[in-house]
Amino acid sequence: MKCPDCGFDNKPNLKFCKKCGKDLTLPPSWFCDTKWHIKTLSIIYVSLIVFYFIASYFLHKLPPPYNQRIIPKEMTPWLHPKKQIED
Ligand SMILES: [Zn+2]
Repeated sequence: MKCPDCGFDNKPNLKFCKKCGKDLTLPPSWFCDTKWHIKTLSIIYVSLIVFYFIASYFLHKLPPPYNQRIIPKEMTPWLHPKKQIED
């Protein structure tokens, strides 16, 4: 019998794991299955997508200059090497 905790392969009819001492007579604790993963991940992804649209809606409502999508090169000189600004 394989130990659910450490994975050690014990002899059958053993009451406790030889390696970690876990009680093997207890039923295995809850394990998440594929259905649970799909449900949980879809809830997380849908929440993130909804949050993105809500956040972008409110960010677009901001007054100038905070609503600017394109930041002028002069404001971020570290993103543009000197040559590009002169062009
Ligand atoms: Zn064990």
